Amino acid sequence: MVYCQGCPWRCSYCHNTHLQPGRIDGDIVWSEVLQFLRRRRGLLDAVVFSGGEPTAQAGLAQAMRDARAFGYRIGLHSAGIYPRRFAEVLHLVDWVGFDAKAPFDAAYERITGVRASGEAALASARALLASGVDCEFRTTWHADYLSAAELERLAGTLAGLGVRRYVLQEFRASGGVGFQPEAKSAAADLGALARRFPQFSLRPA
Ligand code: SF4
Repeated sequence: MVYCQGCPWRCSYCHNTHLQPGRIDGDIVWSEVLQFLRRRRGLLDAVVFSGGEPTAQAGLAQAMRDARAFGYRIGLHSAGIYPRRFAEVLHLVDWVGFDAKAPFDAAYERITGVRASGEAALASARALLASGVDCEFRTTWHADYLSAAELERLAGTLAGLGVRRYVLQEFRASGGVGFQPEAKSAAADLGALARRFPQFSLRPA
């Protein structure tokens, strides 16, 4: 797993807030990562670019080409923040884990703190599904920041877009900042969610 530094969004439940700044002391340059990957050829199968938000990196496509040249398969964890770069790297990727946070409207902004974030995510989601790249859509959920009705609306949209594999990830209380859930809201109807997708699973916290 390669954790890319930098993310422009500020999700209230982010577990990787240390990865939000574009640069930090002690970050590792790609050439060093590449040396590691060169040594591990034949021992590791794949390189997964995660974050932070990998599509914030101007050098993402080249980094993927570098890793592919060593024979690695490529994975990408993304929230689809930069749709153009996201679409540009899809032909270099074997699998994508796509973070869908909310219905692609004002609810997105409520979670990310960034205007029009839902539009960006929707554009990337469409590009991913049109590409045919193997993928999983997942949503980190707690009823205190996304209502059960909003979750069902998101699931309906994703199913309508053609998502086949959907994972609901339970919110983990540790690590996030600025968000103290009280577990007070109604539970999601998991059965109804599951019926929308050929593959559905719940990922425990
Ligand atoms: S998109 Fe991901 S890395 Fe960025 S703030 Fe949200 S949860 Fe954190």
